[in-house]
Amino acid sequence: MGREEQPLILVSNDDGIGSAGLKSLAESLSELGEVMVVAPDRERSAAGHSLTLSRPLRASHLGQGWYSVDGTPTDCITLAVMGLLPRRPHMVAAGINHGSNMGDDVTYSGTVSSAIEATLQGIPAFAISVTGDGDFDFRASGQFAKRLGEEILRRGLPRDTLLNVNMPNAPPEAIRGVAVTRQGRRVYSETVVQKIDPRGKAYYWIGGAPPMWEQLGETDYEAVSAGWISVTPLHLDLTNHRVIDDLKAWGLSLNGGPPIERAEESEPPHGRESKANRISVTS
Ligand code: MN
Repeated sequence: MGREEQPLILVSNDDGIGSAGLKSLAESLSELGEVMVVAPDRERSAAGHSLTLSRPLRASHLGQGWYSVDGTPTDCITLAVMGLLPRRPHMVAAGINHGSNMGDDVTYSGTVSSAIEATLQGIPAFAISVTGDGDFDFRASGQFAKRLGEEILRRGLPRDTLLNVNMPNAPPEAIRGVAVTRQGRRVYSETVVQKIDPRGKAYYWIGGAPPMWEQLGETDYEAVSAGWISVTPLHLDLTNHRVIDDLKAWGLSLNGGPPIERAEESEPPHGRESKANRISVTS
């Protein structure tokens, strides 16, 4: 198979260009096609889906299809797809994140946001993370990324849908299997710690207590805790469709007067697909 016919796979992360998980993901997926890596030049964990609009961005080519960008994970995907890559990628993979991205945490996650950005651009994408906070074993996650990537390249993904994978930090022989799950729910506890600095002023640390989780059944957290690989299909539509009719019944209006019935409008063109899709060069 010639280089041109091979699928192009974009790999990114939020732990930064030097992370061991990124290298492991790029290596594993190189068996499925041509891999290019565009990742932040430093750790940007918990950057969420933030996009840099207030300053210019710079990309450095490090050789062999690897680029670092001085921006967020979302900046990396945007720059890659709009210009750094020679053609549109067939798939985007983000990770392998050092630490889990489960339940409510997915909205903070730069790793998951990379996959969200790709999905917004209409490119099938998955995020993959290993639980724990050190001594990561990426063998099982590398193996599973390849297996899942193969399937995504063959089948594609439904519109506005990405896959969020969380793995136990265990050797391949200790993994029990693959569970398709839903997002778990955190139990929020005391997570901001206030201290006093040497000049007598207060400062704060976010994230003091270890996370606790609700036992809801079939969640990402419960699967991973029991030694399973968790695969959660995430959807970009955050609308709570079940609440729409209830909310209409509130009869909201600007001044408390009767609500005005809105005439049926034709559907607007869908999201990002109409957006210009390359970097434009101006001097
Ligand atoms: Mn991270």
